[in-house]
Amino acid sequence: MNINFKNKKALVRVDFNVPLNDKYDITDDTRIRAALPTIKHILAQGGAVILMSHLGRPQKKLKPDGSLDRERFSLQHLVQHLSNLLGVGVSFSPQTMGKIAMLMADDLKSGEVLLLENTRFEKGEKTGDQDFARRLASLADVYVNDAFGTAHRAHASTTTVADFFDQDHKCFGFLLESELKNANRVLHNPARPLTAIVGGAKVSDKILLLEKLIELADNVVIGGGMAYTFVRAQGGTTGKSLVEEDKITLAGELLEKAKADGTKLFLPHDSVIADAFKADANTKTLASANISGEWMGLDIGEQARADFADVIKHSKTILWNGPMGVFEMPVFSEGTKAVAMAVADATAQGAFSLVGGGDSVAAVNQLNLADKVSYVSTGGGAMLELLEGKTLPGVAAILGSGE
Ligand code: AMP
Repeated sequence: MNINFKNKKALVRVDFNVPLNDKYDITDDTRIRAALPTIKHILAQGGAVILMSHLGRPQKKLKPDGSLDRERFSLQHLVQHLSNLLGVGVSFSPQTMGKIAMLMADDLKSGEVLLLENTRFEKGEKTGDQDFARRLASLADVYVNDAFGTAHRAHASTTTVADFFDQDHKCFGFLLESELKNANRVLHNPARPLTAIVGGAKVSDKILLLEKLIELADNVVIGGGMAYTFVRAQGGTTGKSLVEEDKITLAGELLEKAKADGTKLFLPHDSVIADAFKADANTKTLASANISGEWMGLDIGEQARADFADVIKHSKTILWNGPMGVFEMPVFSEGTKAVAMAVADATAQGAFSLVGGGDSVAAVNQLNLADKVSYVSTGGGAMLELLEGKTLPGVAAILGSGE
């Protein structure tokens, strides 16, 4: 952050989209904690902070009478906890924009924090409305985007608002900065060999990612449900395993592309198979290409774990997106665990490892390995789009290349 915030009011877009229980208690405050360094830095420099964020999907979850559920989706529920974490009082504007928000922003002094109401209460947020963005911009002297989780959305508070500040008056916050830095370390001039591990449910969710990684990486390791569409493309039988019939041809093309690009593509040689999608199903281990009848592959097998670990341990840069099996059920979590341990071991040996995207992040946290890898991304969809090689609208808007 190369702006001097002294005596400036900073409009800071954060990602405070945290889970709340029925009593509106925060059940996981990771996202709030991730924004603290930026907020504290601005306050320490003698600036004032106006925070804005979305929370949930209030426009989709209306009350039975069709009105917004302003209680359920209010950011007011976060005020006390945020204040405790920061060690300073936080005032709250019950409006996102309007007279009250303007008066409260006007009154704000250096060292003070104001939180605006949920940006998604305004219809103009998701449409990237110019007028809404202009009104938000008018509250402050500078704009800081630290909301990596929504940087892939061209919304008013993440993207349009930046157009109302010149290059000297807008910047990334620390979180967004480090997400970009770490993704770039994989995408541009990575130490080689570069190994990408891709898992999760479906090929269709990750087609662009796989294409990009086949071009970029030396090794692409494929596990999870998506592996079986590839096994079918190679002529194997997969029983009731998760297979996208309409993506078998595409999987075959990706296998060919890997061959043409000289990228080594690894599929799980064996699988833990089950006779039902249940934690207490009967299980056995079998070659992934030899699954029949009612049986389905729900985790990678022991041979595959050893094979994958071997590739990972010989890598200098590692990117991991997606679990190797149905890790939510302990009986099918061993493959994901083995890969996580191998990534941690390689990191201890000096490799750079980035865990990016939803469920592999959950797996690493569940295994208490988050501090044994180099970087754990906070943004699922946003990290996926970055790794696919896309320019995120929220990033382009700060860099001034957004048009
Ligand atoms: P994704 O969001 O695409 O990363 O997918 C994550 C989900 O894929 C998790 O909920 C896993 O349970 C699921 N998954 C992983 N492996 C399998 C598998 N072999 N069969 C079915 N689902 C799987």
